[in-house]
Amino acid sequence: MIASAEKPWTRRPAIQLKVRTILNQIQPHAGFVFHDIRLWSRRGQPERIEITVRAHAGMKRRCSRCQRPAPGYDQLEERAWQHVPLWGIRVWFRYAPRRVECPEHGVVVEHLPWNEGKRMLTTAMMGFLARWARGLSWGETAHIFQVSWEAVYRSVEWFVAWGLAHRELKGIESIGVDEIHWGRGLRAKNFLTVLYQIDAPCRRLLFVGKGRSQRTLRQGLKALGPEVVRGLSFVCSDMWKPYLKVMAAQAGQALHVLDRFHITMHLNQAVDQVRRAESVRLRAASKAAAHQLKHTRWALLRRGSRVRGRARQKLNALLASKLQTARAWELKEAFTHFWKYRSVPWAGAFLDSWCYRAMRSRLEPMKKVARMLRTHEELLLNWFRAKGEISAGAVEGLNNKIRVVTRRSYGFRTFEAMEIALYHTLGRLPEPESTHKYC
Ligand SMILES: [Zn+2]
Repeated sequence: MIASAEKPWTRRPAIQLKVRTILNQIQPHAGFVFHDIRLWSRRGQPERIEITVRAHAGMKRRCSRCQRPAPGYDQLEERAWQHVPLWGIRVWFRYAPRRVECPEHGVVVEHLPWNEGKRMLTTAMMGFLARWARGLSWGETAHIFQVSWEAVYRSVEWFVAWGLAHRELKGIESIGVDEIHWGRGLRAKNFLTVLYQIDAPCRRLLFVGKGRSQRTLRQGLKALGPEVVRGLSFVCSDMWKPYLKVMAAQAGQALHVLDRFHITMHLNQAVDQVRRAESVRLRAASKAAAHQLKHTRWALLRRGSRVRGRARQKLNALLASKLQTARAWELKEAFTHFWKYRSVPWAGAFLDSWCYRAMRSRLEPMKKVARMLRTHEELLLNWFRAKGEISAGAVEGLNNKIRVVTRRSYGFRTFEAMEIALYHTLGRLPEPESTHKYC
């Protein structure tokens, strides 16, 4: 099947014995033997290793559905499976599967321990590719191991499906709900809803769904199952209304917390809006005035205490000015104090005074944030009621990691491929058992 199209070959069976010994050590298949091992060369270069597999004469064949012994029926044509490369040389298994007549399942293909369905790769190879594809991009993995992108995709898909089917959803106390922007545009299809577990001992992605509607989140909670949802103590999210609604309806017993990470994001966005509007205005007035705001975006969005060096000088000069951007930044920076409180009433009092200040700032984006915070005051104060049970770092960390994957997989185009990539890298899924991991 593979050999016919390619010439010229030279046969070199010299290494047969040694390779078989190694294979029997690391990849034993009960009921089958490595019959013949050949290294094929092309123009003097080793090209591939072919391992012919035979059924063990004394062992009964088994049904692929139930794995119980069954009488033989007939034999199919020889097939080839790509296996994990040895010394960088591609390896193929060759075997002519037999069919059995199972009393329960009728005439089916026999059970082959290295095979899964109609795939062209051995399960060991799929696991090998999937493990590499966690650190490398799928394209890089395909390139390095001389397989198609599709082969890597299917391997990861198989790996993830196995992991999802075997994962345990016990002991989940805190979850985060988040929306992730994906692709271009701001339509519903460009958003994903993700659920992650944010308990200190286990932080992982639990669910990815298309869109950010109530329906998406309901699907996610359904995927976790009613037992998990009823057992939740803390839910952490942004102020997105559909999420708040669904969570209140389905996990009312859990303390809903608006987390620091998302609030900071809203404040930063508001500062940026003020800066952009002002920059446009100043440019219309004079070039010199507009210069003050140039290249300040990054410094403005960082936490004040973390801006150093030349960026600090520039920021200080900006703050000394009477610009709106400076006032917006000061408001944002003042809000960091909020998170230092321990008592709910004091935090509440601070929130009131901050919102009062923001409402009088005549900066529309800042006023908008203040209104939003006031509306959700109770959920915001839940942060202090949770008494440090929720880690702001956990939400931010997972959010950032998800962004790295979605950006890397921008080329995936389909939601399905990205969904698989996200579960694969962040789901902490159990892995299919195989005799040897190869990597
Ligand atoms: Zn059967």
